[in-house]
Amino acid sequence: MPPDKRREELIAVYREMCDAHACPLAATRIKLVFGAGNANADLMFVGEAPGANEDKQGLPFVGLAGQMLDTLLGEVGLDRKDVFVTNVLKCRPPGNRDPQPDEIEICKPYLFRQIDLIEPKVICTLGNFATKLLTGSPAGITRVHGHPQKREVGDRIVTLFPLFHPAAALRTPSVKELLREDIHKLPALIGEHARQPEPQDASREIEQLGLFQ
Ligand code: URA
Repeated sequence: MPPDKRREELIAVYREMCDAHACPLAATRIKLVFGAGNANADLMFVGEAPGANEDKQGLPFVGLAGQMLDTLLGEVGLDRKDVFVTNVLKCRPPGNRDPQPDEIEICKPYLFRQIDLIEPKVICTLGNFATKLLTGSPAGITRVHGHPQKREVGDRIVTLFPLFHPAAALRTPSVKELLREDIHKLPALIGEHARQPEPQDASREIEQLGLFQ
């Protein structure tokens, strides 16, 4: 899909969500947190749910957990503008309680539509809620983190790469080290799945080698 069309369609999903009130969390939120970043990214991150800062700003991972994520991504040369970041739930659960099964069910089709439109090659699921939802397996993050797994998400095969949630890494230094180790595996994983460059004809390759200058 051409990039402009992709953005337009995502904005349409965002508008639809703003007007949807089937979930009780719509009544208690300040702002809907749809997700942000590069709509054409090969790499997507899916967290759990917005916290207080995200609810105020309408943007995902803008608090301390987000800063931790940015720092670790920076260590491998990745920036928010290279990726798309969203959550399982788009509205803050009161008091940051766990997402409830009915809330996840109501919000799930919107996440699947985001994935379908963005067409990422790799999705990093942050923590248990995103991991269990997208893998469709009850296996927890402690067991599956750092191990890529190919799964059907909607109609597409995507590589899921489960990671510890940055909020857990903030609480426990040893978890931060595991998150760091896993994030350091990302460049190789993205490289394997990056969109193939356009084929070049031989004369252009020779030009680029600078052999005739
Ligand atoms: N934790 C999440 O899971 N998502 C956010 O956007 C912020 C904190």
